[in-house]
Amino acid sequence: MQKPPFFLTIQRILSRGMRTSRPRADRARWLRRLWRLVAVLAFVSTLDDTVLAQQDRWAEARAAMVRTIQAHAALLPKAAMADGISTAILDVMGKAPRHTFVPGRVEGKAYADAPLPIGYGQTISQPFIVALMTHLIGANPDATVLEIGTGSGYQAAVLSPLVKAVCTIEIVPGLGETAARRLKDLGYDNVQTKIGDGYFGWPECGPFDGILVTAAAGHVPPPLVKQLKPGGRMVIPVGSVFGPQFLTLVEKTSGGQITTRQLLPVSFVPLTRESQ
Ligand code: SAH
Repeated sequence: MQKPPFFLTIQRILSRGMRTSRPRADRARWLRRLWRLVAVLAFVSTLDDTVLAQQDRWAEARAAMVRTIQAHAALLPKAAMADGISTAILDVMGKAPRHTFVPGRVEGKAYADAPLPIGYGQTISQPFIVALMTHLIGANPDATVLEIGTGSGYQAAVLSPLVKAVCTIEIVPGLGETAARRLKDLGYDNVQTKIGDGYFGWPECGPFDGILVTAAAGHVPPPLVKQLKPGGRMVIPVGSVFGPQFLTLVEKTSGGQITTRQLLPVSFVPLTRESQ
């Protein structure tokens, strides 16, 4: 077996330092150097352990989150989900660093299958809902996707590796600006962000193969329907703040006709308007 280079270095120092023909002061200097090297190696190995322990901690939590998403999807009625969440989506969610999208005080719960507060009275969506919505719009490498409600930026981060381009709009400037910076720092380069009222969509960024609305609307906004490509899909929670809300799938056929289907009851923060 070949010895690692640092082992050979230690051996060389040892053999040189221990040669009896060397004067005593010389030997003492070599010993000091040896101890310094040992101390540095010991320090570096602790650092490595700390970094690995951190990464492992999140990796395990992420893997558990993915298993929960799969189990949850298996319980859905066939009308809502025929074939389970795609492997591509599960792979991406098994890697996306959700803990960097939540405030430090809730970081420990980042991979629980639950929504979490992100400030300004808003929440990051539950991982299962993120997976389901991504699946329902049929995310694929050629797709241009619009998200309404950037929030923490997590949903956009999950979409990013799966599609060609993501355009995302947030109405609360404090959230939108933080999410934009975070997405840029993490290298999600195909995501464009904008502050504004998502009710009107983003025509210059579209038309869209998929639209994903992450706040509950009283009705399906007509500007969004208009910006959907023929063959495109929109997933949107429809209902009131206190009453029932249903995750709704809106499809535009290749001929331009619109069909809507209520899939399952959900609970989202409301889609607010600029005047509110
Ligand atoms: N997708 C987000 C979760 C969003 S919560 C994530 O992954 O973290 C819903 C978000 O929609 C909130 O941040 C809220 O401020 C935003 N929102 C509400 N009404 C909006 C509107 N009219 N236009 C754009 N964003 C809106």
